[in-house]
Amino acid sequence: MKIEQHPRMRDIDVGDEVYSYQYNLFARVEEVFPAAVCVKVGKLSLQRHLDLLIDPQLWRADDIENLSVCRYCGSRHELHVEYGTGIPFRVCSQCLSTPPRRRMPPVS
Ligand SMILES: [Zn+2]
Repeated sequence: MKIEQHPRMRDIDVGDEVYSYQYNLFARVEEVFPAAVCVKVGKLSLQRHLDLLIDPQLWRADDIENLSVCRYCGSRHELHVEYGTGIPFRVCSQCLSTPPRRRMPPVS
């Protein structure tokens, strides 16, 4: 069986910070698979006493956003944090000066 790599997985490395739209959680990538990442999520448990459990989970590529690369071009150089969305997306200097969707013709 041939496993196709999800396009989003090309830019993801172990140690990258990812955000899950499904769980509204942030986590660090432990392992990379063709269409998913393995992350470890800290969870508070109150079963007998308060405990912090480390829960390994698989997050599908469709549900995550890699916060360690530029969200527009995937670059890892000169990254800035983009505020205003509640999610700390990163944007590189080049995309910051010319946002792809907001590029306007010069005003004369
Ligand atoms: Zn960029």
